[in-house]
Amino acid sequence: NSKSIHRTTDFLHSLLRERIHQGGTVVDATMGNGHDTLFLWEQVSSSGIVYAFDIQQESLEKTRQRFKERDITIDSTNIKLILDGHENMEKYITQPIDAVMFNLGYLPGGAKEIVTNPNTTIKALSIALSLLKKGGIISFIIYYGHLGGMEEKNALLTYVNQLEDSKFTVLKCSYMNHKNNPPIILIIEKK
Ligand code: SAM
Repeated sequence: NSKSIHRTTDFLHSLLRERIHQGGTVVDATMGNGHDTLFLWEQVSSSGIVYAFDIQQESLEKTRQRFKERDITIDSTNIKLILDGHENMEKYITQPIDAVMFNLGYLPGGAKEIVTNPNTTIKALSIALSLLKKGGIISFIIYYGHLGGMEEKNALLTYVNQLEDSKFTVLKCSYMNHKNNPPIILIIEKK
């Protein structure tokens, strides 16, 4: 059942769907296999702009393929697939943004040793927070079962924990009774 709360990505999409609108400017900070890039594109449609970042060429190819299978032409004015780290997003994005999605960890089906890193993740988050419009949202799915994952999770939770509550709302959802490092969802909204 795709509506099950057990399906982390689907559950997050259901939370984000009504908060991301047609014509919006949105960012997939960790493109991976392009699931979130496609989801974001479906929300903002051809009047919006999706920026998607990954440091692996493979990820851009997987994402291009995903769009192609659905007969969506990647028009580079609307869908920007960028082979660079999310910590450099300022080089590419100058306008205010409506939403940013992060999915931490490694590329499913790809090299397990290429993972997101606490320093660059937090740098990217701080840039994203400053580019974010009022009412805009940033989401994370934190996977932390891999080597270094726990450090990244802890660093990120510490960072968001001290965001000023007059400026941001930070929501954390976790699976309390699941074993083996179940993913954590974070949603940050700019007031
Ligand atoms: N949302 C993706 C999907 O739909 O398949 C899954 C993302 S996967 C868990 C994490 C991705 O982050 C990997 O593809 C990895 O290459 C990428 N990554 C690691 N460091 C990065 C960085 N500094 N900037 C952008 N992407 C990075």
